[in-house]
Amino acid sequence: MRRFAHFIDGEVREPAGGSWLEVFDPSSGEAWAEVAAGDARDVDDAVNAAQAAFPAWSGLRNSERAAHLERLATALEARIDEFARVEARNGGKPLALARDAEIPRAVSNLRFFAHAATQFSSESHHGEAGLNYTLRQPLGVVGTISPWNLPLYLFTWKIAPALAAGNTVVAKPSEVTPATAAMFGELAREAGLPAGVLNIVHGGGPEVGESIVRHDAVQAVSFTGSTAVGRRIAGVAGPLLKKVSLELGGKNPTLVFADSDWQVHLDTLLRSAFQNSGQICLCGSRILVERATYPAFRDAFVARARSLKPGNPLDEDTHLGPLVSQAHFDKVTTAIERAREEGGRILCGGDALDRPGWFVTPTVIEGLGPDSSTNLEEIFGPVVTLQAFDDDQQALALANAGHYGLSASVWTRDLARAHRMGAGLRAGMVWINTWLQRDLRTPFGGMGQSGLGREGGLEAMRFYTAPRNVCIAT
Ligand code: NAD
Repeated sequence: MRRFAHFIDGEVREPAGGSWLEVFDPSSGEAWAEVAAGDARDVDDAVNAAQAAFPAWSGLRNSERAAHLERLATALEARIDEFARVEARNGGKPLALARDAEIPRAVSNLRFFAHAATQFSSESHHGEAGLNYTLRQPLGVVGTISPWNLPLYLFTWKIAPALAAGNTVVAKPSEVTPATAAMFGELAREAGLPAGVLNIVHGGGPEVGESIVRHDAVQAVSFTGSTAVGRRIAGVAGPLLKKVSLELGGKNPTLVFADSDWQVHLDTLLRSAFQNSGQICLCGSRILVERATYPAFRDAFVARARSLKPGNPLDEDTHLGPLVSQAHFDKVTTAIERAREEGGRILCGGDALDRPGWFVTPTVIEGLGPDSSTNLEEIFGPVVTLQAFDDDQQALALANAGHYGLSASVWTRDLARAHRMGAGLRAGMVWINTWLQRDLRTPFGGMGQSGLGREGGLEAMRFYTAPRNVCIAT
């Protein structure tokens, strides 16, 4: 059985407590590896290593840090297939998705922030009171905590800007999907990243994640995960006055207007609902359809959802893998039961597959209003609801119902309506006639219960630096 240990101070390290957690293959439900079950002692070692590495790393020229990130990107790019196979196995995601989208995106994250390191600049203000210039300096040791749904993609989305800005990092990947982050540690060593600059501590959230948040020497924490854990982290970090960025859950609306070319976009609409079995924070799980086109849309969408065949993630033609864990499978199947109890009509799916592993068929539900828990609570599986609306106002009211505000997609040919929706939707990111197109320079994050702060481009570089104004008498 494969073992994934910590990566601390440039070397692979066994957990101080000697304990390991099982890592499962979601398509069989069998354990295939073990991961270090770290605790506060491992976090302490990692923070010490990161502190020791900080002066030299932050003292490098920006272009030298950029060169390190570029080397990491190139090293990962050369091993996309290997990383993708492991990601697919560990997360139960279709191999094509890991190989063609997620691992390449991890490469892009590293490369993008390599460039950002050389492009980042700060402001100067003059003409009013003295000559002011703003220094944006790295914070020191920062913590990153990431989830299981896009493991290496979100891991690199955090560590790359932190490193580019001159910080050293203690990173905690999800204990459910630790494999590619562990492999990345070894890749970093091979690519010549100095010891202690990136440290990876595995294990449970309360044991490792919370120890990172609480550690005196950790200056800031960037977290992506559930709203419940985000709230917990905010509660711990608040009294410590520690800087946090929280990217949390969502319950995203997809607004389909009768004037749209939805027939042409059906593939994208289907992906926006079911990609990675709905386990993407940006998936649209509440599909709102203008009444005039509702029956036609429903029938076409359900027919396409039925045609998505779940299968072994490692088979080239699999579009839909299993859910990531037994616990998540239980959560999703309970949510489907609750939808039935609330009076929802299951138009397709609604079942677990009768085979090993944690497979749930694509599920489309209608007949539930905006106040049902099915429409209010994040399910994070291949489960969507359909609701009809009559006009723009009702569309906006339905879309903005609930407490989340991560993303939305709008499908219309009416340009004025597109702009009205873009400005009126309570969401950090709105896509018009597209979904999940990403320019890495744009602000990424949510409103309300979907989070605090923004990632991406300048936002991330600013999060990982402290501004200091220097005023000179003129
Ligand atoms: P989770 O909140 O259970 O775990 C996320 C990470 O936090 C894991 O590494 C976990 O070990 C750690 N953790 C758990 N308890 C902790 C604690 N007390 N202190 C510190 N760390 C702790 O989330 P998950 O189930 O891994 O991921 C799914 C969730 O992530 C969904 O809600 C999804 O919407 C959200 N998500 C959001 C975004 C976004 O960008 N907004 C992106 C991806 C996923």
